[in-house]
Amino acid sequence: MTRVALIAHDEKKPAIIDLAREYEDLLSTFELVGTGTTGKRITEETNLTVERKESGPVGGDTQIGAEVVDGRIDGIVFLRDPQTAQPHEPDISALLRICDVHDVPLATTETGAVYLLDGLATETGVES
Ligand code: PGA
Repeated sequence: MTRVALIAHDEKKPAIIDLAREYEDLLSTFELVGTGTTGKRITEETNLTVERKESGPVGGDTQIGAEVVDGRIDGIVFLRDPQTAQPHEPDISALLRICDVHDVPLATTETGAVYLLDGLATETGVES
């Protein structure tokens, strides 16, 4: 099954909720994993089920990176807040790097996320 990771910094959580709602039908056909707070919010505010890792600042991004290494992740939407310094920036950089190493598509903007999800929809033959 297609497995997608969803992550958003605090300022971008409303945007990822909007995206999850807009793509709820498609996302419900995927296995979803997310960092702690992002996963909690999506679970509470949509009908989607998200496997929750730890919160980003305590290792959630690293846990998702480990899944990328294991070949378990097909795509990542990571809506980052470019205006605010994050305490776990090294973990974020590591996740971006490991996606580059393994050619896992990762979108960091809302428009990029739309293209990524539409692409996965095409690849999996599901209407988005
Ligand atoms: P969070 O983590 O979903 O637990 O807030 C996201 C992040 O900042 O990496």
